[in-house]
Formats: sequence, C-alpha cells, structure tokens
Amino acid sequence: MVLAELGGSLSKAIHRMTNAMIIDDKVLDDCLNEIARALLQADVRFNLISDMQANIRKTVNLNDIAAGHNKRKIIQQAIFDELCNMLNPGKPPCFTPKRGKTSVVMFVGLQGSGKTTTCSKYAHYHQKKGWNPALICADTFRAGAFDQLKQNAAKVKIPFYGRPMESDPVKVAVEGVERFKKENCDLIIVDTSGRHKQQAELFEEMRQVSEATKPDLVVFVMDGSIGQAAFEQARAFKQSVAVGAVIVTKMDSHAKGGGALSAVAATESPVIFIGTGEHMDEFQVFDVKPFVSRLLGMGGDLSGFIDKINQVVPMDQKPEIGQKLLEGNFTLRIMHEQFQNILKMGPFWAMVPGFSDELMPKGREKESQAKMKRYMTMMDCMTDKELDSSSPKLMNESRMMRIARGSGRNIREVMEMLEEYKRLARIWSKMKKSLKIPALSRNMN
Ligand code: GDP
Repeated sequence: MVLAELGGSLSKAIHRMTNAMIIDDKVLDDCLNEIARALLQADVRFNLISDMQANIRKTVNLNDIAAGHNKRKIIQQAIFDELCNMLNPGKPPCFTPKRGKTSVVMFVGLQGSGKTTTCSKYAHYHQKKGWNPALICADTFRAGAFDQLKQNAAKVKIPFYGRPMESDPVKVAVEGVERFKKENCDLIIVDTSGRHKQQAELFEEMRQVSEATKPDLVVFVMDGSIGQAAFEQARAFKQSVAVGAVIVTKMDSHAKGGGALSAVAATESPVIFIGTGEHMDEFQVFDVKPFVSRLLGMGGDLSGFIDKINQVVPMDQKPEIGQKLLEGNFTLRIMHEQFQNILKMGPFWAMVPGFSDELMPKGREKESQAKMKRYMTMMDCMTDKELDSSSPKLMNESRMMRIARGSGRNIREVMEMLEEYKRLARIWSKMKKSLKIPALSRNMN
C-alpha cells in the first residue's frame, strides 16, 4: 500500500532528526524538507505543505527554546500536531445521524468514485449497528445506476426506492424520502448522479435534489487515488452543495492518501470513513490521531512501539490503542483494530515474538485472514459498550444472538469469536508481564 511508503518516509525524516548530535536550524530545515518531499509525492497539495512547514517553524523557534528543554520532542510533537491539523477541518464534528430520529444523508461525487458502493456500505454499516436505513437511487442519468443500487440493497436486505423510467431525479428523491419517512426509517440515504453531459448540469441537479430533500448531511465521496486533482474536485462540489463530510474510497489500491488531506482542506469537512475494498464490509471509521500515528510508523517491535508513543505523541494525546494497551485493557475494539491493521497495513503484532504465530500461523495465512474478516463482521455488529468492555460477563445470550443475526452468522460462531478474544487477551496479559510494560508505562507518566 502506497500509504505505507509515505509513513516510512515520514518516520525516516523524524528518525534522522532525532539522531542528529545537535538540533539546529539546519537539522530542522532538512527534516521539514524531507517531510515536504514525502507529502508532495503522496499528492498532498503544495500550499498545504508550505502552511504546515510555516506552522511548525512558528511553534518550534529553536532560539527561544530554553536549555534543558527537549528540542527533539518539541519538534516531533509539532509535526504530529500539524499532520493531525491537516486532517482536521477545525470545526465541530459534522452532523451525525441519531438512531431512532429520521436523518436524510445525500451522497455526491463523480462517477467512478465509488459513490454507489459507498452508499450501500454506509447503509450496511449503520444497519449492523441497529439503524433502520433505506436507499434511494436518484441517479437517473447513468444507465445501470438503478440496478446496481437495487442489487446492493437486496444483498444486505435494505429497503430500496428508485424508478428506472423516471428522468427527474428530484421527483424520485422526494418520493423516496417521503415514503421512507412514513415507514419510520431513521437513515434515508440518497445516491445522486455523478456525471452529466455538462458539469454545470451535474452541479445544478445536485443543488436541486439537495434543496428538495433538505438533507441533514451531504457526503462527498472521493476516489483516494486521484492525487493532486482532489483539491479542485472537492472544492467544486463544496461550492455547489453544503458538503459536511468526506468519504475517501479505494484506500486499499494505489491510493497515496494525500488526496484525503487535500479534500479535507477544500471542503473544510472531516473524513468520516474510508473504503478499503469492493466488499460491503471493507469500510472503516476514520479517526485522525490513530491514522497519523500509523503514518508515523507506530508499527515495528513492541519496544519501538512504546518508544514511538513516548517520542511522537504527547501524553495527553496518546493514540487510543496505545493508551488502552498500556493500561492493560485488551478490548474487543483493540482486537478489531489490530485485525484491520494486519489485513491492511501489516501488523505491529507481527513483530512481537509469540503473538504473530498465534494470529497468523505460517502456512495458514489465507485461512487466518478469512477468520479475521469473519470475526470483524461480527464485531461490526457490536455496540460501543460491548467493544470497549473487557468483561466477559457482559456478553450474555441475547447480546450474542443479536450479533449473530446482524452479521448473518450463528451463535456458535459468535461464541468462537469471543473465545478467540479471550485467548488473545490471555496471551497479551502474559506477554505484557514478561515485557514489563507496566514499568514502562509508569515511566511515561
Ligand atoms: P460510482 O460511479 O461513483 O457510483 O462508483 P461505483 O460505486 O459504481 O464504484 C466504481 C468501482 O469502484 C466499482 O468497481 C467498485 O466496486 C469500486 N470500488 C468502490 N469502492 C471501492 C474501494 O473502497 N476499494 C476498491 N478497491 N474498489 C472500490
């Protein structure tokens, strides 16, 4: 994955700086230039990079840092903060649908961006969490759009509305929204057209659909591999409709990731999910800090991992996983996140002696990956409380039944997944003792 290359270059730049004997302006400049080169190669827009450099220089005034203060840490902290800021639109969180209260979410984006697939993934994600979603095809331009969404909806058993013979997308969208409001759907998703004869017509149509359906949220879907074009594209959409959130697709392919940074800047809206494959479940919630932590190379061996947390991330901003692990709570959420890492970005566990063999025995990689995907589908149907609890008592029969229903599995398989969780938690706890992590954790505090 190309994103991993960006991460590698960024952490190399930081590493070189921290290894320098004396930190002076030259070392800082070299480090910032190296970071700029890496970001440019990842398709981040030049203006964003120069703003970032300027902000870091402003924060890190080497002449003003009193002797005794750790310049390396201050620089690392500034780099981490600036990367997070680039992905953070600096606004309060955009609208998030509430279960049981009707919300209309409209999806916009160019044809081929993955919009229709993403509508279905978004609906499916919420359905598994207990929402009652519905899908509307208001793309009356592209032949095939109706059938594609209808088929996706049928696959995941989500109500669908569309009219293949109707040419007015506004009419279809309004009818669909009215129908699903009557049916008490709490998440009504409107897929719009992504192409027209003229681009102006596309934007005008989007504006009309938006005006007629009054969406609570407009999601801009962007192909993560489009590179430098991302900024202009995202801005053009933002100028036509009130984009409130971004979903970046195809992050599994040759996506360099930089487009996501640019889209955030252009739309002043956060990335809320990323698409990581064609399959319905290949869809992840996007969190800025863990993403940046990963970019900066939070992989590697365990001591390196803890070291990196110490070095790069300030105490009050330690990435959730690191924090929770150091505190000793191996929750289902951590297991889910680690499975994701292993499947997408390469594991940090893989470097931890003992653990990698447990998760992915040699020669059985395919089987292990399929198992992880199966378990992740089940975990996707868990509530936040279940994911964050490390108490086995919480998982009673009715909860297990609900998870089984939501994930299309049987209760025996859910029990098997929970057994696997307990097994890994036991191994983790033993390893933690042998690696004396509590002692390290105390040092950090
Ligand atoms: P639309 O024209 O914007 O509605 O795009 P579609 O939803 O039809 O998707 C275009 C192509 O991209 C299809 O082949 C999808 O399967 C594929 N696609 C969508 N999202 C992803 C993703 O996250 N990863 C990968 N690899 N392919 C995706």
